Amino acid sequence: MAARRQSLRLAARALEQRLNTDTSDHVGAQRPCPCGGSAQYHGRHGKTFESVLGPLHLQRAYYHCEQCASGFCPRDRALGLESFSLTPGVLRMTASAAALLSFEESSGLLHELAGAEVSAKQVERAAEALGAEIAVDEHQQVEKMGEVAPTMYLGMDGTGVPMRTQEVADRAGKQADGSAKTREAKLVTIWTAESRDEEGQPVRDPGSITYSAAIESAATLDTSPHLSDFAARVQREASRRGFREAQRPVVLGDGSNWIWNSASELFPQATQILDRFHAKEHLSQVGKIIYGDSPEGKPWIQARYDELDEGCLKSVVQALHGHAGQYKEARECVRYIWNNRRRMRYPKFHKQGFCTSTGVVEAGCKVVIGTRLKRAGMHWTVKGANRIIALRCSKLSGRFEDFWERRSDQRKTAA
Ligand SMILES: [Zn+2]
Repeated sequence: MAARRQSLRLAARALEQRLNTDTSDHVGAQRPCPCGGSAQYHGRHGKTFESVLGPLHLQRAYYHCEQCASGFCPRDRALGLESFSLTPGVLRMTASAAALLSFEESSGLLHELAGAEVSAKQVERAAEALGAEIAVDEHQQVEKMGEVAPTMYLGMDGTGVPMRTQEVADRAGKQADGSAKTREAKLVTIWTAESRDEEGQPVRDPGSITYSAAIESAATLDTSPHLSDFAARVQREASRRGFREAQRPVVLGDGSNWIWNSASELFPQATQILDRFHAKEHLSQVGKIIYGDSPEGKPWIQARYDELDEGCLKSVVQALHGHAGQYKEARECVRYIWNNRRRMRYPKFHKQGFCTSTGVVEAGCKVVIGTRLKRAGMHWTVKGANRIIALRCSKLSGRFEDFWERRSDQRKTAA
């Protein structure tokens, strides 16, 4: 560690010297200002940047504009040093860490692994700024990347993100007093399962999962010609993956209406499957309400699982009917099965070679949202959460590198 620290320090001094003896960024007494005015040369100004070699003390030509009372250094633009005193290399490391870890943990790891000093606050600002750029980029980059598989799966799900109080004021929620503590982040995930296990069952292809998510609405007025924000997101992700071009597109979800409304609107040709993982979770919850901790509960739940797997929805409904008088959850479950009966024809789906219980969608919510945004003590603004979600989706879907390349190219062209 000491040897590395010394080597980096030497390299930093060499780079500093080279940049500071080069005064070619002083190009005349005046420079045009972005405001339309004219900026005057004000000598060379010093500033310390955090680089992958450690701190760099740079002297740069500084131009000040009286018209808009602000100034700039042409060299900062040329070298991409305009983000929070971080060089592009450190900015990239910071974003990578913050996509996966809390701001504090990122700051600690950057120090330990890279010897870079970036405070938790700097990590937060940098990650949010890049997340905002990624969110814009995601709206623009919709051309297809990657291969279209014969069968493609698209899952949708929602999960609550803990919010700061002012972000949920006046919103109805699930708290006892009717208030809300969370906002729902909605997730779309697409994957393939062309691989087979020893029994010939489809298995999710490693590395095939991509995600896109945000706290946004899935509802529009019936009279509106526009898609809801979330439906538009689903459509963009489907375009990138070529979901519509698959011979057999499949939409998986739980029982939420917004999922099936979006699915029917966007992909009328797709097979709709109620994720068996969710269906079982639902039955298990009802079983626990009916039987509590008594030993009859487990076999009751298992019997319903078996009926579900065999496609005997009538038997499941019959068993629930026996408790419908006493438990509203049992009545609701009957309605849930009735409403989704066409999406629960599991034996038929299996014959067709479809995955019906993946847990991918469920896991997606945990992986993308839960493990990063729902940790103890975390409270978000909608804006802040959406930026970090965008950053995280890009990182977990293997798109961050592409984004970074586009960003670097754009900056080079602009400079
Ligand atoms: Zn100006």
